[in-house]
Amino acid sequence: MEYISTRDKNLSFNFKDVFLRGLAPDGGLFIPKEIRTYNELEIKTLRSLSYTDLATEIISNFCIPDIKKNDLKKVIKKSYESFTTKDVIKIKKIGDINLVELYHGPTLAFKDIAMQVIGHMYDNLQVAKTKTVNIVVATSGDTGSAAIAALSNKKNINLFVLHPHNKISNIQRKIMTTIGGDNIYNIAIEGSFDDCQKIVKGLFNDNSFREKINMSGVNSINWARIICQIVYYFYSFFKMKKNNISFSVPTGNFGDIYAGYIAKKMGLPINKLIVATNKNDILQRVINTGEYKPDKVKQTITPSMDIQVASNFERLLYYILDENDSRVGSLMNDLSSKNSFNLEKKEINEIKKDFEAVKITDEETVSIIEEIYKKHKFIIDPHTATGVGAAQSFKNIGDTVVLGTAHPYKFRDTIKKAIGKNLESPEHLKLNIDKKETFDIISNSSLEVKNYILGKIQ
Ligand SMILES: *Cc1c(COP(=O)(O)O)cnc(C)c1O
Repeated sequence: MEYISTRDKNLSFNFKDVFLRGLAPDGGLFIPKEIRTYNELEIKTLRSLSYTDLATEIISNFCIPDIKKNDLKKVIKKSYESFTTKDVIKIKKIGDINLVELYHGPTLAFKDIAMQVIGHMYDNLQVAKTKTVNIVVATSGDTGSAAIAALSNKKNINLFVLHPHNKISNIQRKIMTTIGGDNIYNIAIEGSFDDCQKIVKGLFNDNSFREKINMSGVNSINWARIICQIVYYFYSFFKMKKNNISFSVPTGNFGDIYAGYIAKKMGLPINKLIVATNKNDILQRVINTGEYKPDKVKQTITPSMDIQVASNFERLLYYILDENDSRVGSLMNDLSSKNSFNLEKKEINEIKKDFEAVKITDEETVSIIEEIYKKHKFIIDPHTATGVGAAQSFKNIGDTVVLGTAHPYKFRDTIKKAIGKNLESPEHLKLNIDKKETFDIISNSSLEVKNYILGKIQ
């Protein structure tokens, strides 16, 4: 599989480059040169596969020949052994809500589904065989712990995780700062997730630093994460045993929902992809008005979605703009020079063919959690609740599956406020998170982060 940059179609990369670098050298995002499509008959043959076999089939399209299909099968099998459910995900009917639980991995959010695979891909690609790899990642709360669980104690790999100080839930922080081995460094940045992401992107664009520390990334702009997330759209679509299914997706960096868009491009007949945002509603605004304009990040009860610069949106733009790489580049230049860009009417209409978008406020989120608990004695986390709220806003589009992105325990303080219940920790986390937390607090400065990293790896 050959890859290009969203800002330059003439650049060419293989899967291994894309996996290791995360960000294209021109600042654009990697995108496959062609996307393999399945016809109706081929889709039928995928229906009967187990989750892991389906994952092997879907993901192999994007990583052969760098990872051979047989090796990939082993990678995937090992990755999902740590999940508490055999089929990796669970599909449930809660009243009239179709919920797919994506949080049965080691750190209780959907991020584990891709990150576990990535951890084993590092082994398979033998990237740290002769030289230490330093992975730097920004997290809005869940990516960090998933990456730590996947990479802890791996030989010749160090992992630096930047999270926004005091802006993630207590349990998110505890999991992140207690489960890691000696190769894990937690950094609390005095800023927002956008600040953390900006620092990480800056380090990737700094060639001499990147090369000096042999840097790699596992952020949601990493293509390897997207391809692992495509799988559950197929799998849950098939389990619904209907056609014309829509998906409602709690969205921050536009990674998870973008995987659904690629699933549709591959031939899965998804009806609509519904973007659920919180008050940080840049995606809702761009989809409904065409103006992409980051605001200051507002803190909400859905911290994993407290993002204003939705990086993966650039990947959608590439297709919406008819694969016009120079127009993508020029809109991205507008974004950095004027802090916004505008789409034309026909481009908005193009997006609206596949997407709907709505903002769900904290008050609405709390009342959704309350209502579902009252009616069904079932507890959902606040992020998942925004997905439920978004699905309810578009009732007329027919059967919809809501992606359940995190286990409610991760947001137990919010759950306690909403329904007055103290949630217990799932068994596999119990022993760990009462340990002493280790993290360092650093100001919002790329230079300080650089010095911190250099200090640790010398
Ligand atoms: C990461 C995350 C999201 C947002 O996913 P994106 O891929 O960034 O859009 C939503 N909910 C939870 C619980 C998350 O951890």
